[in-house]
Amino acid sequence: MNKLEKAVIRALKSYGYSVEVRRDTGSNLAWIDPKKKEFVIAARTPVTARTQIVLHELAHLMGGHQPVRNKCLKANQELIAERAAAMVARRLGYDTMSAAIFYINIQETNRERYCKEKTNLKEETIMLAMELYEELQQWL
Ligand SMILES: [Zn+2]
Repeated sequence: MNKLEKAVIRALKSYGYSVEVRRDTGSNLAWIDPKKKEFVIAARTPVTARTQIVLHELAHLMGGHQPVRNKCLKANQELIAERAAAMVARRLGYDTMSAAIFYINIQETNRERYCKEKTNLKEETIMLAMELYEELQQWL
């Protein structure tokens, strides 16, 4: 586990989340349950992906994202969280873009499919990245 991952996990715990590394997770690499305040990550997840995933989940938390049924809103939230996470990781010396790009492409496709209007996500993404970066300062 690298320094950044440890910091993110400390931050998640400070929000009342339990964090568990589990061996039997089926095909899932990680998930977060906002109701149970539970974060589970598969032991077999490669380190770069793990760093990106924990940051992504913390980004959702910092962004006040809630589970939604609206597929356009969901794709927007996922893109904002994933990009903010990759930006912050890079700023802190961890290049996770190789792990992020696949998910970004999936969510871009979803956005094209489900969003009637393509809103500009740049401002929201940058604001969230800044919040995420500032939050991490106290845990690094
Ligand atoms: Zn997500």
